[in-house]
Amino acid sequence: MLNVTPSAFPAPGSQQRAAAGGRSKVPLKPGRSLMDWIRLTKSGKDLTGLKGRLIEVTEDELSKHNKKEDCWICIRGFVYNVTPYMEYHPGGEDELMKAAGTDGTDLFDQVHRWVNYESMLKECLVGRMAVKPVAAPKGVLLEKKVLASSAKDLSPSYDWFQTDSLITIVIYTKQKDMNADLVIVDCQDKQLRGEIIMDDHSYLVEVDLDHAVSEDVAVNIAEKVGKVEIILNKKDNIHWKILGQPCEGHNTFIKRTDRGLFYRKCKLVSKTEVTHDTKLFCLMLPKGTHLRVPTGQHVYLKHIIAGTEVVKPYTPVLPFLPLDFQEPPCHDGVHLYLMIKIYSHGLFTQALDHLQIGDYISVSNPEGSFKKSQLQTSEDLLLLAGGTGFTPMVKLLNFALTEVSCLRTVKLIFFNKTEDDILWRNQLEQLALKDERFEVQFILSQPSKDWVGKQGKISPSLLSEFVKRSRRDSKVLICICGPTPFTEQGVRYLKDLGYSQEEIHAFTA
Ligand code: FAD
Ligand code: NAP
Repeated sequence: MLNVTPSAFPAPGSQQRAAAGGRSKVPLKPGRSLMDWIRLTKSGKDLTGLKGRLIEVTEDELSKHNKKEDCWICIRGFVYNVTPYMEYHPGGEDELMKAAGTDGTDLFDQVHRWVNYESMLKECLVGRMAVKPVAAPKGVLLEKKVLASSAKDLSPSYDWFQTDSLITIVIYTKQKDMNADLVIVDCQDKQLRGEIIMDDHSYLVEVDLDHAVSEDVAVNIAEKVGKVEIILNKKDNIHWKILGQPCEGHNTFIKRTDRGLFYRKCKLVSKTEVTHDTKLFCLMLPKGTHLRVPTGQHVYLKHIIAGTEVVKPYTPVLPFLPLDFQEPPCHDGVHLYLMIKIYSHGLFTQALDHLQIGDYISVSNPEGSFKKSQLQTSEDLLLLAGGTGFTPMVKLLNFALTEVSCLRTVKLIFFNKTEDDILWRNQLEQLALKDERFEVQFILSQPSKDWVGKQGKISPSLLSEFVKRSRRDSKVLICICGPTPFTEQGVRYLKDLGYSQEEIHAFTA
């Protein structure tokens, strides 16, 4: 298993890096950054010890390679020799050794299924696992059939029909409360992919369409009955005999974690300064894409850097903090705004900063564990943000102040190093003036001598001063996001102050 932590995976993980907000569990030695790894994989060195040969690996053989100096790991049926990678693994050698000589797929998926190990480890590929014939024990078949038919009743299904000019695909989710956040559609070059998110499961319709359609795709959702219609415009008014050829995964209802992340290319349409080192990137979704990133969720950006695919998570924000909270903000459904801090030695953010307007970058489907329902009955919302840990708070703030009627107080406690680092300070102050439920507190860890506000780092005393219930027994939700140690310490202090696990949501990868 490659326990690859998000900011760690990309680049180096030195002490300096950890201090800069990185997530390395262990400091990596100098010369062991992601860039160094990419260089090594391009050097032509034999990293498997098999001189480029691919072999079929039995379970018995795999289990023999279980030492640091000879360590093989299987991920999704492919076996990698991870010994050369040990020193470059941001999560540390011990994490990697947990899967030594075994199938590490589950462990890998638990940690970061989005990390593109195929690209990262392609030079370490030893071969495939040999397939073992499995004899079905008596009785199992019947049980499976019964399970399959009851599972089938609960599974979504689809149908399609046509008029002279339209193709309509109807998905019956059999679930109430369907909404636009749960429906992701991509239609490009005769490829149609419609994914419906249902809790931790995903239903997929994916076909190579029989004939060409135009780029305009309409999605209608009958929320109460859980019916989703995807409406395509035929390019030619001909009668279709079939919808198309099913792709792998078509008409399956499986765990989300078992579904590969899907990416589409989005165009960079603008890049504006937020602070001295942070920019707001506006990306445009392709015409045939229907995608809304739910509050509290992130997407992954994928970009090829020095010939290797690198993936990093980012949390979409709004173009600005709306001051008029009468109406939910209109999602134009076309643009995605990302507030991204550019690190002077950051691998991914440097590449992002070098993108030109009009360039394309791959954006994944949304992920994340935050559920709006966590907020629905809260009376007090407390948001603790460190640096760009502010990003999930943007949509959250907006949602809370617009749509959660029982909320009495919303407080943002925003930790930054200096005044110049505060993101959207003006907008936050304006919002606090406009909406009496909202209050913002800035705390600086490295203020200039002119700073008259609060200073310090996240600590039990600062938290006990600012994190309070508005009434003795009011229902509270505390959300926290920032550098990993900031978040971890914050959660610990909050628990010490008596807040329960259910009252705290920590944003992590
Ligand atoms: P890295 O290469 O990982 O470097 C990180 C730090 O290490 C930088 O300070 C860099 O200067 C330093 N460093 C690099 N090389 C060295 C070296 N050789 N020695 C010492 N130090 C070094 N970030 C945002 O800005 N906006 C978001 O909305 C956002 N959302 C996120 C959502 C989630 C769920 C998660 C987990 C993270 C999110 N992040 C966000 C962080 C983001 O994913 C990246 O980690 C971040 O952009 C840094 O990536 P990078 O490759 O540029 O930096
Ligand atoms: P930063 O400017 O380095 O730090 C912001 C504030 O946090 C500063 O006051 C800083 O104080 C403090 N801080 C930093 N490290 C700390 C630590 N170890 N213990 C206590 N306080 C600490 O932050 P940034 O560069 O913007 O980084 C933001 C982080 O948020 C990144 O790591 C990013 O991955 C993460 N993030 C996560 C998500 C998510 O959903 N999981 C979303 C967005 C961002 P000091 O003076 O002590 O440094």
